[in-house]
Amino acid sequence: MQEMKSPKKPLIYYCLIGLTLYLLLNIFFFPNVLRRTVQEVGYDTFMDMTENGEIGTVEIESNQILFTDKDNTTYYKTGIIDDPNLVERLYNSGAEFSSDIVEQVSPVAYVLISYVLPIVIFVVIGRILTKSMRKRMNDGANPMNSMMFGQRGSNAKVYVKSSDGIKFSDVAGEDEAKDLLREIVDFLHNPQAYKEMGASCPKGALLSGPPGTGKTLLAKAVAGEANVPFFSISGSEFVEMFVGMGASKVRDLFRQASEKAPCIVFIDEIDAIGKKRNGQYGGNDEREQTLNQLLTEMDGFDATKGVVILAATNQPDSLDPALLRPGRFDRRIPVDLPDLKGREEILEVHGKKIKLADNVDFSVIARMASGASGAELANIVNEAALRAVRRKSSVTTQEDLMESVETVIAGYQKKNRLLSDKEKLIVSYHEIGHALVAAKQSNSAPVQKITIIPRTSGALGYTMQVEEQEHFLMNRTEMENKIATLAGGRAAEEMIFGEITTGASNDIEQATRLARAMITRYGMSDEFDMVALETVTNQYLGGDTSLACSAETQTKIDEKVVALVKQEHQKARQILEENKDKLHELAKYLYDHETITGEEFMQILEAQEERE
Ligand code: ADP
Ligand code: MG
Ligand code: ZN
Repeated sequence: MQEMKSPKKPLIYYCLIGLTLYLLLNIFFFPNVLRRTVQEVGYDTFMDMTENGEIGTVEIESNQILFTDKDNTTYYKTGIIDDPNLVERLYNSGAEFSSDIVEQVSPVAYVLISYVLPIVIFVVIGRILTKSMRKRMNDGANPMNSMMFGQRGSNAKVYVKSSDGIKFSDVAGEDEAKDLLREIVDFLHNPQAYKEMGASCPKGALLSGPPGTGKTLLAKAVAGEANVPFFSISGSEFVEMFVGMGASKVRDLFRQASEKAPCIVFIDEIDAIGKKRNGQYGGNDEREQTLNQLLTEMDGFDATKGVVILAATNQPDSLDPALLRPGRFDRRIPVDLPDLKGREEILEVHGKKIKLADNVDFSVIARMASGASGAELANIVNEAALRAVRRKSSVTTQEDLMESVETVIAGYQKKNRLLSDKEKLIVSYHEIGHALVAAKQSNSAPVQKITIIPRTSGALGYTMQVEEQEHFLMNRTEMENKIATLAGGRAAEEMIFGEITTGASNDIEQATRLARAMITRYGMSDEFDMVALETVTNQYLGGDTSLACSAETQTKIDEKVVALVKQEHQKARQILEENKDKLHELAKYLYDHETITGEEFMQILEAQEERE
């Protein structure tokens, strides 16, 4: 993709401005250039010339006398001397009296300066102004204009298709989104077919999904596939300090777009301007005006003209409902986190850019990176390549990739942060506690890898759990088992050391959230049945929840959450008690090796069982 540069101001303007300045400087600072040179003479010469009648014109000023000879060719000046009869004598000598000898510059220059020059200056300034106004209408950004009016145009970037542009094939997975967008591209290429059918293209499409899932990338791919101009602007660029500026930018953008139709306008992060208007006193006037302008412009559009508006957001819930009604962003394209297959495809797309060893198996990596977004996967591949370079290897291996999954997901390995022996032992038992509880509950996912090498993210140990298949539904038992697994770490500490540590804080958080969700959102408690006690307000950004129940019910919820977690904690404790030998053996192995893979773990676990 190439960004089109706005054309440079013609050189001739700078020349004209320079010339004007030069002339003005001359007139004010070097008057003699244009004026006749004046010859200074003594008073006696003046007296003699008066006596002989050789004076043509004379002017008596307060501090000097200016005069010319009979033919008005030479100019003279002399000082003032108290001379009462001077005027009379001059009159008698036949001299003419004048009041502006000095201003009698050469006639041509005089006409130039007093009549032509002002006109020239005004014409030039006028032309510059009109020119810049016209340019502002055409392409918005214009330095001259912004200087004069203190504002800018819509500063949308115009992309034109180029050979190295992003194509749909560069976006892995997201097939539904691609299909929906392909239809739009198709319309822009071939509006006639749609017109004959009497169908009109959707005016706008809203890409919504969590950060890093490729919304911006998809929009760029549309630009790369469609042979039409592509305006790209971020929602935050509309937000200005002064009320009304954002609205005028929106107007500018749409004026440009309708001139270039058919074309695509892409507004990234539209939530910056598209938030729900709250109608309260002291709302954000500027933002609301901008939004209103956007709504108006989208309505005023002729759909057959072929201007398609794409927008991206990760907070679709916070958008103003008016934006989402049919006729505006009537098409909503969900761009979700990739599933297993999608992750594998994304890894492959990015893997093409680096040199890979033969042993690389992306399906394993995709399995490990459950829940990673496209951006994170791209990062994983890049980290792996960086690691290979650090190792001075010419290819990126499967180990590099696996290591970088951990790096990206769990933070960098902290080589220099050493655990004391006692801490290492506690962490070993803690992590094995999680893994053992998970492995012993038939429905829990087996363990892929456990390490006790501290990460910069703060996690001391790290148990990587891999789900055999992608899970979309979790049943009650699975959720309960998950809580038990989370409690397993703390349970092991209690059992072995009779003492508890701060290491379980993250587990506690997660277990509580799960237990709470089971009761308030998934209807998994007997008492509340299918009543939603909490609503998710921010689906894509963290998933904050807000309670929707009375204070008494809240108390009950809290009691139930505590009871559920306690019950699962107890269960974990029991599982560990039953498998105490294995716990010791596995923890010792982890303590010695610092890492244990899933296979090693299962080997030890099963070997023991045979012996029993
Ligand atoms: P957002 O949804 O936040 O706008 P981006 O489109 O900016 O995310 O994606 C960030 C980066 O992640 C992209 O530049 C790309 O490298 C990578 N990426 C995300 N999704 C995909 C995908 N489906 N296929 C390939 N790369 C992807
Ligand atoms: Mg984006
Ligand atoms: Zn833990």
